[in-house]
Amino acid sequence: MLEIRNLHARIAEDGTEIIKGLNLTVKAGEVAAIMGPNGSGKSTLSYVLAGREDYEVTEGEILYNGESILEMDPAERAASGIFLAFQYPLEIPGVATMQFLKVALNEQRKARGQEELTTPDFIKKVREAAGTLDIEMEMLKRPLNVGFSGGEKKRSEILQMKLLEPKLCVLDETDSGLDIDALRIVADGVNALRSPERAMVVITHYQRLLDYIVPDTVHVLSRGRIVRTGDKTLAEELEAKGYADIVAEAA
Ligand code: ADP
Ligand code: MG
Ligand code: MG
Repeated sequence: MLEIRNLHARIAEDGTEIIKGLNLTVKAGEVAAIMGPNGSGKSTLSYVLAGREDYEVTEGEILYNGESILEMDPAERAASGIFLAFQYPLEIPGVATMQFLKVALNEQRKARGQEELTTPDFIKKVREAAGTLDIEMEMLKRPLNVGFSGGEKKRSEILQMKLLEPKLCVLDETDSGLDIDALRIVADGVNALRSPERAMVVITHYQRLLDYIVPDTVHVLSRGRIVRTGDKTLAEELEAKGYADIVAEAA
């Protein structure tokens, strides 16, 4: 579903290269964890996948279902089923969360050739999804992410993902800022979306999340490249030994 070949990407503003020859393959149905030390390029990779314009791809290829997405803008990528849950979800004052969800969902439906949902159908769908994530409908009347706690922001990201039913989900440090109860709720939400037609890229610094979202593959990112690939035991090894050995070995 996702094939990244020799990807090089830099910060558009000053030309600093962050992703330096990254290779990664994720199959449909697979949950791939990306682990790595702070500053290794995990968030940058997620932004490049989503098509954020602050980054430029200078070399390599990103194939999604066999086709290059490099010429697609973020909206086209989203419409094609790519979803990014942000490490730091943006606050959007003046846009009620419900309104945001409705526009996002209806845009997605339009892109798939489906009719817009009626308001009652939309509310029913949101109520169901919110319930499973322990999100109060009251919260969804507030402006998007404004004044939300860390845990509420992350649950709101998962709610968006649940409603949009993406094909390729990229979750950037969804565990950061979550207490253990919220972590469980978020992980259950993610696990409920696992399916043979869907691939997930779960980015995390810590092994803890992977006790709840058990990955099929684990990849270690260091200095803009994947330097080790393994199964879930690799995450346990990292937890025990830290990143230092792998990073030094790769260097
Ligand atoms: P991670 O998510 O693994 O912690 P990031 O992708 O956030 O790492 O960052 C990788 C490196 O790139 C860091 O050194 C970071 O400071 C730098 N970086 C990323 N984006 C920018 C930017 N827009 N401007 C300046 N530096 C950036
Ligand atoms: Mg970081
Ligand atoms: Mg990051």
